[in-house]
Amino acid sequence: MPELPEAETIVRVLREGATGRTIRRVRILHPDVLAGSAAAFRRGLRGRRIRHVGRRGKNVVLHLDSGRVLAVNLGMTGRLLLSERGARLNLARRLPHAAVVFDLEPGAILVYDDIRRFGRLSLLDAAGWAAHSARLGPEPLDPSFTPAALAAGLAGSRAPVRSLLLDQGRLAGVGNIYANEALFRARIHPARAGSSLEPGDIRRLHRAIRSVLRAAIEGRGTTIRDYRDPGGGPGGFAPRLAVYGRDGVPCPRCGAPITRTVLRGRSAFFCPVCQPPDPTASGAAHAA
Ligand SMILES: [Zn+2]
Repeated sequence: MPELPEAETIVRVLREGATGRTIRRVRILHPDVLAGSAAAFRRGLRGRRIRHVGRRGKNVVLHLDSGRVLAVNLGMTGRLLLSERGARLNLARRLPHAAVVFDLEPGAILVYDDIRRFGRLSLLDAAGWAAHSARLGPEPLDPSFTPAALAAGLAGSRAPVRSLLLDQGRLAGVGNIYANEALFRARIHPARAGSSLEPGDIRRLHRAIRSVLRAAIEGRGTTIRDYRDPGGGPGGFAPRLAVYGRDGVPCPRCGAPITRTVLRGRSAFFCPVCQPPDPTASGAAHAA
């Protein structure tokens, strides 16, 4: 599932290749990926110039010259593929899961492709986008994201810290891959209650979240199976994952086998030696 580094990789390529181009035609092959009606979507986009491409959390955001915003939530398997004209031949055969095709001018084609179609394309006015953005938590790579901001997002909840990190309202852009990797780097057990983290834990976790996201952006994201950059290439960060998807593999730090558990319905991966369980929770268990 694309997370912040994958969305950022897409944004950087589209910023280079799509900014300044005009949307000439919109072909909607699977309207179920649209948040609104297909007719309104087509009408709102045709003839509009892409002024700027940005990112908010896991969303790729195209700002149009009309002041409106096309927000793309990639869901599980969404891809945005950009090719210059000429590469458009046999699109249907090459991309059997194309859901929306944008013809851009000067000559290029932008395809939203989504095998499972859990992604969403929303065309919003400025106020609608601001309201949507306000529901998301802070951007972890923004200079304003401090350890105190992270602490505020985790405080007061006894839910597992791994699950809290996935909550887009508490922190934008982090999903299961980078939540697990950040907790490993910070040596924090994924099942520890958010409210149990000490200031030292918070500082390490804050640093770990930022460092793993930066490294993954540098590696152009992680491809487990479906993620592709706009040129169709996989991300390069998967070989650098320390714990995610690696149960049974030796911990790169201590050699103990990485363990998988399930927290709130989703896999968590950790090193049982480097990431000990919450000392206060086990103390409580002894007391009880
Ligand atoms: Zn270890």
